[in-house]
Amino acid sequence: MTGFDRPRIEAAVAEILAAIGEDSARPGLAATPSRVADAYAEFFAGLGKDAAAELGEAVPLETEKAETILVRDIAFRSVCEHHLLPFLGVAHVAYLPGEKVVGLGRIPRVVETLAARPQLQERLTEQIADTIESGTQARGVFVVLDAAHTCVTTRGPRQTESTTVTMAARGAFTEPASRTELVSLIGRGIA
Ligand code: ZN
Repeated sequence: MTGFDRPRIEAAVAEILAAIGEDSARPGLAATPSRVADAYAEFFAGLGKDAAAELGEAVPLETEKAETILVRDIAFRSVCEHHLLPFLGVAHVAYLPGEKVVGLGRIPRVVETLAARPQLQERLTEQIADTIESGTQARGVFVVLDAAHTCVTTRGPRQTESTTVTMAARGAFTEPASRTELVSLIGRGIA
């Protein structure tokens, strides 16, 4: 890890502009390398960050029996590592607590941190599940990501309506019956 090198990104963007046959000095493009560097700083802000730390401190359950906690429709944005183009969608994260729970607002922060790096949707889904499982000692974790990849919607096959659904299950939620229940809770006709 060498860290975020802003001047290097700006130089690389100017080089791409020159390589597509543009005049990178013309007024409309003069600030483009700097704007792209700003965007990249945001897109890749999670690189080198510990996603588990975003979970904060798990606190003891206040009820006697743990029931499933499902956080639906967490909007996320990531960047496909094959094309460096964004993919956008929603994450649904369910976990069955062991002895402890974490603040509900912490789950979206884990998703955001893991998404802010060059990613594959499949790997992102697995990493979210692993982080929640190990960070909360959950008895079960189920993660569904439903995303539109701009590398599919804007280029190549140009499937503008197509989304990709990925799932990862851990512990109790690897059981088909509990999985079916969660999928119907999440809705959207994912089956
Ligand atoms: Zn791609």
